[in-house]
Amino acid sequence: PRQTQIGLMSHAELVSEHESQNANYATLKTAKLTLDLTRGKPSPEQLDLSTPLLSLPGDGDFRDGSGTDCRNYGGLTGLPELRAIFGELLGIPVEQLLAGNNASLELMHDIIVFSMLYGTPDSPRRWAADEPIKWLCPAPGYDRHFAITEALGIEMITIPMRHDGPDTRAIAKLLAEDPQIKGLWAVPNYSNPTGVVYSEEIVRELVSLPAAPDFRLFWDNAYAVHPLTDTAAPVLDVLGMAAAAGNPNRPLVFASTSKITFAGAGVSFFGASKANIDWYLGHAGKKSIGPDKVNQLRHLRFFTDAAGVREHMQKHRKLLEPKFALVRRILEDRLGASKVASWTEPRGGYFISLDVLEGTAARVIALAKDAGIALTAAGSAFPYSTDPEDKNIRIAPSFPQLPELEKAMEGLATCVLLAATEKLLDQH
Ligand code: PMP
Repeated sequence: PRQTQIGLMSHAELVSEHESQNANYATLKTAKLTLDLTRGKPSPEQLDLSTPLLSLPGDGDFRDGSGTDCRNYGGLTGLPELRAIFGELLGIPVEQLLAGNNASLELMHDIIVFSMLYGTPDSPRRWAADEPIKWLCPAPGYDRHFAITEALGIEMITIPMRHDGPDTRAIAKLLAEDPQIKGLWAVPNYSNPTGVVYSEEIVRELVSLPAAPDFRLFWDNAYAVHPLTDTAAPVLDVLGMAAAAGNPNRPLVFASTSKITFAGAGVSFFGASKANIDWYLGHAGKKSIGPDKVNQLRHLRFFTDAAGVREHMQKHRKLLEPKFALVRRILEDRLGASKVASWTEPRGGYFISLDVLEGTAARVIALAKDAGIALTAAGSAFPYSTDPEDKNIRIAPSFPQLPELEKAMEGLATCVLLAATEKLLDQH
Protein backbone atom coordinates (compact mmCIF):
# COMPACT_ATOMS: atom_id res chain seq x y z
CA PRO A 1 0.00 0.00 0.00
CA ARG A 2 1.03 3.55 -0.62
CA GLN A 3 2.86 5.20 2.29
CA THR A 4 1.03 8.10 3.99
CA GLN A 5 3.80 9.15 6.38
CA ILE A 6 5.71 11.63 4.28
CA GLY A 7 8.99 10.96 6.08
CA LEU A 8 8.85 7.26 5.17
CA MET A 9 7.93 7.68 1.48
CA SER A 10 10.02 6.24 -1.32
CA HIS A 11 11.46 8.75 -3.75
CA ALA A 12 8.73 7.99 -6.29
CA GLU A 13 5.99 8.40 -3.70
CA LEU A 14 7.49 11.67 -2.56
CA VAL A 15 7.68 13.01 -6.11
CA SER A 16 4.03 12.17 -6.64
CA GLU A 17 3.01 13.66 -3.28
CA HIS A 18 4.92 16.83 -4.16
CA GLU A 19 3.18 17.04 -7.52
CA SER A 20 -0.25 16.73 -5.99
CA GLN A 21 0.48 19.33 -3.29
CA ASN A 22 1.86 21.64 -5.98
CA ALA A 23 -1.40 21.26 -7.86
CA ASN A 24 -3.39 21.93 -4.68
CA TYR A 25 -1.31 25.03 -4.11
CA ALA A 26 -1.89 26.29 -7.66
CA THR A 27 -5.64 25.92 -7.12
CA LEU A 28 -5.35 27.68 -3.77
CA LYS A 29 -3.66 30.66 -5.43
CA THR A 30 -6.39 31.02 -8.03
CA ALA A 31 -8.90 31.55 -5.19
CA LYS A 32 -7.25 34.95 -4.49
CA LEU A 33 -7.93 34.79 -0.76
CA THR A 34 -7.36 37.61 1.72
CA LEU A 35 -7.48 35.87 5.09
CA ASP A 36 -5.82 36.76 8.38
CA LEU A 37 -4.81 34.38 11.18
CA THR A 38 -2.18 36.71 12.67
CA ARG A 39 -3.48 38.19 15.92
CA GLY A 40 -5.62 36.96 18.78
CA LYS A 41 -8.31 39.56 18.30
CA PRO A 42 -11.86 38.96 19.51
CA SER A 43 -14.37 38.69 16.64
CA PRO A 44 -17.04 41.36 16.17
CA GLU A 45 -19.59 38.85 17.60
CA GLN A 46 -17.48 38.58 20.75
CA LEU A 47 -17.25 42.36 21.05
CA ASP A 48 -21.04 42.53 20.61
CA LEU A 49 -21.43 40.52 23.85
CA SER A 50 -20.34 43.67 25.68
CA THR A 51 -22.53 46.15 23.80
CA PRO A 52 -24.24 47.36 27.03
CA LEU A 53 -20.87 48.88 28.01
CA LEU A 54 -21.43 51.50 25.30
CA SER A 55 -24.32 52.97 27.26
CA LEU A 56 -23.03 52.38 30.80
CA PRO A 57 -22.71 53.78 33.41
CA GLY A 58 -25.52 55.91 31.95
CA ASP A 59 -26.95 59.33 32.56
CA GLY A 60 -26.43 60.46 36.15
CA ASP A 61 -24.47 57.37 37.30
CA PHE A 62 -20.96 58.44 38.18
CA ARG A 63 -20.37 57.48 41.84
CA ASP A 64 -18.98 54.16 43.05
CA GLY A 65 -20.12 52.43 46.27
CA SER A 66 -17.92 54.60 48.47
CA GLY A 67 -19.30 57.80 46.93
CA THR A 68 -16.24 58.60 44.79
CA ASP A 69 -17.11 60.84 41.83
CA CYS A 70 -15.54 58.79 39.05
CA ARG A 71 -15.51 61.77 36.69
CA ASN A 72 -12.88 63.53 38.73
CA TYR A 73 -9.11 63.14 39.21
CA GLY A 74 -7.55 60.72 41.65
CA GLY A 75 -7.94 57.17 42.87
CA LEU A 76 -4.64 55.76 41.60
CA THR A 77 -5.52 52.30 42.97
CA GLY A 78 -8.70 51.98 40.89
CA LEU A 79 -12.27 51.30 42.08
CA PRO A 80 -12.37 48.99 45.14
CA GLU A 81 -15.55 47.19 44.05
CA LEU A 82 -14.14 46.26 40.63
CA ARG A 83 -10.86 45.20 42.26
CA ALA A 84 -12.88 42.97 44.60
CA ILE A 85 -14.52 41.19 41.65
CA PHE A 86 -11.24 40.49 39.90
CA GLY A 87 -9.52 39.82 43.24
CA GLU A 88 -12.00 36.98 43.74
CA LEU A 89 -11.36 35.62 40.23
CA LEU A 90 -7.58 35.88 40.54
CA GLY A 91 -7.34 34.88 44.22
CA ILE A 92 -5.75 38.18 45.26
CA PRO A 93 -6.78 40.31 48.30
CA VAL A 94 -8.24 43.68 47.24
CA GLU A 95 -5.50 45.70 48.93
CA GLN A 96 -2.94 43.84 46.82
CA LEU A 97 -4.71 44.38 43.48
CA LEU A 98 -4.87 47.60 41.47
CA ALA A 99 -7.19 48.40 38.55
CA GLY A 100 -5.71 50.51 35.75
CA ASN A 101 -6.30 51.63 32.19
CA ASN A 102 -6.93 49.56 29.09
CA ALA A 103 -3.62 47.72 28.61
CA SER A 104 -1.89 45.32 31.00
CA LEU A 105 1.01 45.33 28.55
CA GLU A 106 1.57 48.97 29.48
CA LEU A 107 1.81 47.99 33.17
CA MET A 108 4.42 45.34 32.37
CA HIS A 109 6.38 47.78 30.25
CA ASP A 110 6.23 50.52 32.91
CA ILE A 111 7.29 48.20 35.71
CA ILE A 112 10.38 47.11 33.80
CA VAL A 113 11.17 50.74 32.92
CA PHE A 114 10.71 51.77 36.57
CA SER A 115 13.04 48.94 37.61
CA MET A 116 15.64 50.02 35.04
CA LEU A 117 15.45 53.67 36.14
CA TYR A 118 14.88 53.38 39.90
CA GLY A 119 15.50 49.74 40.90
CA THR A 120 12.96 47.52 42.69
CA PRO A 121 12.40 47.52 46.50
CA ASP A 122 14.97 44.70 46.61
CA SER A 123 17.63 46.15 44.27
CA PRO A 124 20.80 47.82 45.55
CA ARG A 125 20.81 50.12 42.49
CA ARG A 126 18.72 50.83 39.45
CA TRP A 127 18.95 47.92 37.01
CA ALA A 128 20.37 50.18 34.29
CA ALA A 129 23.49 50.67 36.46
CA ASP A 130 24.04 46.92 36.50
CA GLU A 131 23.73 46.04 32.84
CA PRO A 132 23.51 43.58 31.21
CA ILE A 133 20.15 42.69 32.69
CA LYS A 134 19.04 39.21 31.66
CA TRP A 135 15.59 37.62 31.30
CA LEU A 136 14.24 34.09 31.10
CA CYS A 137 11.90 33.59 28.16
CA PRO A 138 9.94 30.33 27.97
CA ALA A 139 9.39 29.76 24.24
CA PRO A 140 7.30 29.52 22.19
CA GLY A 141 5.87 32.53 24.03
CA TYR A 142 4.15 35.87 23.51
CA ASP A 143 5.89 38.08 20.94
CA ARG A 144 4.92 41.36 22.63
CA HIS A 145 6.60 40.26 25.87
CA PHE A 146 9.82 39.59 24.01
CA ALA A 147 9.49 42.91 22.17
CA ILE A 148 9.50 44.82 25.49
CA THR A 149 12.64 43.17 26.84
CA GLU A 150 14.38 43.40 23.45
CA ALA A 151 13.58 47.12 23.12
CA LEU A 152 15.07 47.81 26.56
CA GLY A 153 18.30 46.02 25.70
CA ILE A 154 17.66 43.16 28.10
CA GLU A 155 19.44 39.93 27.19
CA MET A 156 16.86 37.22 26.58
CA ILE A 157 17.56 33.57 27.36
CA THR A 158 15.27 31.01 25.74
CA ILE A 159 13.81 28.36 28.07
CA PRO A 160 12.17 25.26 26.57
CA MET A 161 8.42 24.98 27.17
CA ARG A 162 7.10 21.60 28.40
CA HIS A 163 3.52 20.30 28.62
CA ASP A 164 3.12 21.60 32.20
CA GLY A 165 5.17 24.80 32.11
CA PRO A 166 8.73 25.93 31.45
CA ASP A 167 11.73 23.67 32.04
CA THR A 168 12.46 24.41 35.72
CA ARG A 169 15.71 22.38 35.74
CA ALA A 170 17.17 24.73 33.14
CA ILE A 171 15.76 27.71 35.05
CA ALA A 172 17.18 26.54 38.41
CA LYS A 173 20.66 26.14 36.95
CA LEU A 174 20.67 29.56 35.28
CA LEU A 175 19.27 31.37 38.35
CA ALA A 176 21.84 29.74 40.64
CA GLU A 177 24.70 30.83 38.38
CA ASP A 178 23.68 34.32 37.32
CA PRO A 179 22.31 37.10 39.58
CA GLN A 180 21.95 39.32 36.49
CA ILE A 181 18.78 37.38 35.65
CA LYS A 182 16.02 39.68 36.90
CA GLY A 183 12.88 38.37 35.31
CA LEU A 184 10.88 35.60 33.69
CA TRP A 185 7.95 35.99 31.30
CA ALA A 186 5.10 33.67 32.25
CA VAL A 187 1.58 33.13 30.94
CA PRO A 188 0.50 30.54 33.55
CA ASN A 189 -3.00 29.74 32.31
CA TYR A 190 -3.52 28.76 28.70
CA SER A 191 -0.17 30.12 27.55
CA ASN A 192 0.18 32.16 24.41
CA PRO A 193 0.64 30.31 22.03
CA THR A 194 0.79 26.73 23.37
CA GLY A 195 -2.26 26.72 25.67
CA VAL A 196 -0.05 25.13 28.36
CA VAL A 197 -1.29 25.48 31.96
CA TYR A 198 1.50 25.68 34.54
CA SER A 199 1.21 22.84 37.06
CA GLU A 200 1.16 23.53 40.80
CA GLU A 201 4.53 21.82 41.13
CA ILE A 202 6.12 24.08 38.50
CA VAL A 203 4.64 27.18 40.16
CA ARG A 204 5.96 26.04 43.55
CA GLU A 205 9.44 25.68 42.05
CA LEU A 206 9.31 29.07 40.36
CA VAL A 207 8.39 30.88 43.58
CA SER A 208 10.99 29.08 45.68
CA LEU A 209 14.12 28.52 43.54
CA PRO A 210 17.18 30.43 44.81
CA ALA A 211 17.60 33.63 42.75
CA ALA A 212 18.65 37.28 43.00
CA PRO A 213 16.51 39.14 45.61
CA ASP A 214 15.11 41.38 42.86
CA PHE A 215 14.30 38.50 40.48
CA ARG A 216 10.66 38.88 39.37
CA LEU A 217 8.09 36.53 37.83
CA PHE A 218 6.09 38.56 35.31
CA TRP A 219 2.93 36.52 35.84
CA ASP A 220 0.73 37.51 32.92
CA ASN A 221 -2.61 35.90 33.65
CA ALA A 222 -4.24 37.34 30.52
CA TYR A 223 -6.34 34.16 30.08
CA ALA A 224 -7.13 33.29 33.73
CA VAL A 225 -10.90 33.04 33.17
CA HIS A 226 -10.87 31.89 29.53
CA PRO A 227 -11.61 28.12 29.54
CA LEU A 228 -12.77 26.29 26.42
CA THR A 229 -13.99 23.22 28.32
CA ASP A 230 -16.25 22.50 31.31
CA THR A 231 -13.34 22.10 33.69
CA ALA A 232 -11.55 25.41 34.01
CA ALA A 233 -7.89 25.24 35.07
CA PRO A 234 -7.49 26.61 38.61
CA VAL A 235 -5.97 30.05 39.10
CA LEU A 236 -3.15 29.28 41.53
CA ASP A 237 -2.39 31.67 44.39
CA VAL A 238 1.11 32.53 43.18
CA LEU A 239 1.42 35.48 45.60
CA GLY A 240 0.47 33.33 48.61
CA MET A 241 2.76 30.51 47.48
CA ALA A 242 5.65 32.94 47.03
CA ALA A 243 5.06 34.50 50.45
CA ALA A 244 5.02 31.03 52.03
CA ALA A 245 8.31 30.27 50.28
CA GLY A 246 9.88 33.43 51.73
CA ASN A 247 9.84 35.34 48.43
CA PRO A 248 6.74 37.55 48.76
CA ASN A 249 8.01 40.17 46.30
CA ARG A 250 8.85 37.75 43.48
CA PRO A 251 5.54 37.52 41.55
CA LEU A 252 4.01 40.48 39.72
CA VAL A 253 0.56 39.43 38.52
CA PHE A 254 -1.13 41.00 35.49
CA ALA A 255 -4.56 40.56 33.94
CA SER A 256 -7.06 42.55 31.92
CA THR A 257 -10.52 42.48 30.42
CA SER A 258 -9.09 42.84 26.89
CA LYS A 259 -10.34 39.33 25.99
CA ILE A 260 -13.42 39.69 28.20
CA THR A 261 -15.05 42.97 27.12
CA PHE A 262 -13.44 45.30 24.56
CA ALA A 263 -9.84 44.49 23.55
CA GLY A 264 -9.07 48.17 23.08
CA ALA A 265 -11.16 49.64 25.88
CA GLY A 266 -11.02 47.27 28.84
CA VAL A 267 -9.53 47.48 32.33
CA SER A 268 -6.10 46.16 33.38
CA PHE A 269 -5.10 44.73 36.77
CA PHE A 270 -1.85 44.51 38.68
CA GLY A 271 -1.45 42.31 41.77
CA ALA A 272 1.61 42.03 44.00
CA SER A 273 2.93 42.15 47.58
CA LYS A 274 2.18 45.29 49.59
CA ALA A 275 5.83 46.39 49.19
CA ASN A 276 5.66 46.08 45.40
CA ILE A 277 2.26 47.80 45.23
CA ASP A 278 3.55 50.77 47.26
CA TRP A 279 6.70 50.92 45.13
CA TYR A 280 4.63 50.89 41.92
CA LEU A 281 2.17 53.53 43.15
CA GLY A 282 5.10 55.82 44.10
CA HIS A 283 6.40 55.77 40.52
CA ALA A 284 3.04 55.56 38.74
CA GLY A 285 1.87 58.62 40.69
CA LYS A 286 4.47 60.65 38.81
CA LYS A 287 3.07 59.77 35.39
CA SER A 288 -0.67 59.87 36.14
CA ILE A 289 -3.13 61.40 38.61
CA GLY A 290 -5.29 58.34 38.26
CA PRO A 291 -6.81 55.85 35.81
CA ASP A 292 -10.04 56.10 33.79
CA LYS A 293 -12.50 55.45 36.62
CA VAL A 294 -15.57 55.98 34.44
CA ASN A 295 -14.52 52.96 32.37
CA GLN A 296 -13.97 51.01 35.58
CA LEU A 297 -17.45 52.01 36.82
CA ARG A 298 -18.96 50.90 33.50
CA HIS A 299 -17.30 47.51 33.90
CA LEU A 300 -18.52 47.28 37.50
CA ARG A 301 -22.11 47.95 36.44
CA PHE A 302 -21.83 45.49 33.54
CA PHE A 303 -20.52 42.55 35.61
CA THR A 304 -22.02 43.19 39.09
CA ASP A 305 -19.96 40.34 40.57
CA ALA A 306 -17.47 37.54 39.84
CA ALA A 307 -20.26 35.19 38.78
CA GLY A 308 -21.21 37.81 36.19
CA VAL A 309 -17.74 37.57 34.68
CA ARG A 310 -17.84 33.77 34.59
CA GLU A 311 -21.26 33.76 32.91
CA HIS A 312 -20.02 36.26 30.37
CA MET A 313 -16.99 34.06 29.62
CA GLN A 314 -19.30 31.15 28.80
CA LYS A 315 -20.77 33.27 26.01
CA HIS A 316 -17.27 33.80 24.61
CA ARG A 317 -16.64 30.08 24.88
CA LYS A 318 -19.76 29.32 22.79
CA LEU A 319 -18.39 31.51 20.00
CA LEU A 320 -14.78 30.30 20.26
CA GLU A 321 -15.26 26.55 20.71
CA PRO A 322 -16.50 25.83 17.16
CA LYS A 323 -13.50 27.72 15.75
CA PHE A 324 -11.00 25.73 17.79
CA ALA A 325 -12.83 22.50 16.87
CA LEU A 326 -12.69 23.39 13.17
CA VAL A 327 -8.95 24.08 13.30
CA ARG A 328 -8.36 20.78 15.09
CA ARG A 329 -10.48 18.84 12.59
CA ILE A 330 -8.70 20.27 9.55
CA LEU A 331 -5.25 19.73 11.05
CA GLU A 332 -6.17 16.12 11.89
CA ASP A 333 -7.80 15.40 8.50
CA ARG A 334 -5.14 17.03 6.37
CA LEU A 335 -1.95 16.53 8.38
CA GLY A 336 -2.64 13.70 10.84
CA ALA A 337 -1.47 10.76 8.71
CA SER A 338 1.47 12.57 7.12
CA LYS A 339 3.28 12.93 10.48
CA VAL A 340 4.99 16.13 9.35
CA ALA A 341 3.23 18.32 11.91
CA SER A 342 2.04 18.36 15.51
CA TRP A 343 -0.17 20.84 17.29
CA THR A 344 -1.45 21.73 20.73
CA GLU A 345 -5.02 21.08 21.88
CA PRO A 346 -5.63 23.97 24.26
CA ARG A 347 -8.29 23.79 26.97
CA GLY A 348 -8.54 27.56 27.06
CA GLY A 349 -7.04 30.80 25.83
CA TYR A 350 -6.76 32.10 22.29
CA PHE A 351 -4.16 30.13 20.35
CA ILE A 352 -3.06 26.87 18.83
CA SER A 353 0.64 26.25 18.38
CA LEU A 354 1.49 24.30 15.24
CA ASP A 355 4.89 22.67 14.74
CA VAL A 356 5.66 21.80 11.12
CA LEU A 357 8.60 19.85 9.68
CA GLU A 358 11.82 21.33 11.06
CA GLY A 359 13.30 23.95 8.75
CA THR A 360 10.04 24.68 6.91
CA ALA A 361 8.02 27.17 9.03
CA ALA A 362 9.35 30.29 7.27
CA ARG A 363 8.68 28.64 3.89
CA VAL A 364 5.13 27.67 4.92
CA ILE A 365 4.42 31.23 6.07
CA ALA A 366 5.80 32.65 2.79
CA LEU A 367 3.76 30.20 0.69
CA ALA A 368 0.63 31.08 2.67
CA LYS A 369 1.28 34.79 2.25
CA ASP A 370 1.56 34.39 -1.55
CA ALA A 371 -1.79 32.63 -1.44
CA GLY A 372 -3.38 35.48 0.51
CA ILE A 373 -3.29 33.88 3.98
CA ALA A 374 -1.57 36.08 6.56
CA LEU A 375 0.13 34.29 9.45
CA THR A 376 2.23 35.75 12.28
CA ALA A 377 5.80 36.29 11.01
CA ALA A 378 8.11 33.29 11.21
CA GLY A 379 9.90 33.02 14.54
CA SER A 380 7.72 35.59 16.29
CA ALA A 381 7.02 33.33 19.28
CA PHE A 382 10.76 33.27 20.10
CA PRO A 383 13.20 35.80 21.58
CA TYR A 384 14.75 38.01 18.88
CA SER A 385 12.10 36.62 16.48
CA THR A 386 14.33 33.63 15.82
CA ASP A 387 12.92 30.12 15.94
CA PRO A 388 16.06 27.96 16.26
CA GLU A 389 14.34 25.01 14.57
CA ASP A 390 12.25 27.04 12.12
CA LYS A 391 9.18 24.94 12.82
CA ASN A 392 6.66 26.93 14.91
CA ILE A 393 3.52 28.65 13.61
CA ARG A 394 0.98 30.35 15.87
CA ILE A 395 -2.66 29.99 14.83
CA ALA A 396 -5.13 32.59 16.09
CA PRO A 397 -8.64 31.35 15.21
CA SER A 398 -10.79 33.88 17.12
CA PHE A 399 -11.30 36.66 14.59
CA PRO A 400 -12.34 35.08 11.24
CA GLN A 401 -15.84 33.77 10.59
CA LEU A 402 -16.08 29.96 10.33
CA PRO A 403 -16.15 29.80 6.49
CA GLU A 404 -13.08 32.07 6.25
CA LEU A 405 -11.31 30.12 8.96
CA GLU A 406 -11.99 26.89 7.09
CA LYS A 407 -10.51 28.27 3.86
CA ALA A 408 -7.47 29.62 5.69
CA MET A 409 -6.80 26.34 7.50
CA GLU A 410 -7.26 24.21 4.36
CA GLY A 411 -4.85 26.54 2.59
CA LEU A 412 -2.38 26.41 5.44
CA ALA A 413 -2.46 22.60 5.44
CA THR A 414 -1.63 22.58 1.73
CA CYS A 415 1.33 24.91 2.36
CA VAL A 416 2.59 22.67 5.21
CA LEU A 417 2.49 19.58 2.98
CA LEU A 418 4.05 21.35 0.00
CA ALA A 419 6.92 22.75 2.07
CA ALA A 420 7.53 19.35 3.69
CA THR A 421 7.69 17.50 0.36
CA GLU A 422 9.99 20.19 -1.08
CA LYS A 423 12.32 19.88 1.89
CA LEU A 424 12.42 16.08 1.84
CA LEU A 425 12.97 15.96 -1.93
CA ASP A 426 15.87 18.36 -1.44
CA GLN A 427 17.41 15.91 0.99
CA HIS A 428 16.96 12.89 -1.30
N1 PMP B 1 -0.65 39.15 27.56
C1 PMP B 1 -0.91 38.13 26.74
C2 PMP B 1 -0.34 36.79 27.05
C3 PMP B 1 -1.69 38.34 25.60
O1 PMP B 1 -1.91 37.32 24.76
C4 PMP B 1 -2.21 39.62 25.34
C5 PMP B 1 -3.11 39.92 24.17
N2 PMP B 1 -2.87 39.27 23.01
C6 PMP B 1 -1.89 40.66 26.22
C7 PMP B 1 -1.13 40.39 27.32
C8 PMP B 1 -2.36 42.06 25.98
O2 PMP B 1 -3.11 42.46 27.07
P1 PMP B 1 -3.63 43.96 27.19
O3 PMP B 1 -4.63 44.18 26.13
O4 PMP B 1 -4.22 43.98 28.57
O5 PMP B 1 -2.44 44.87 27.07
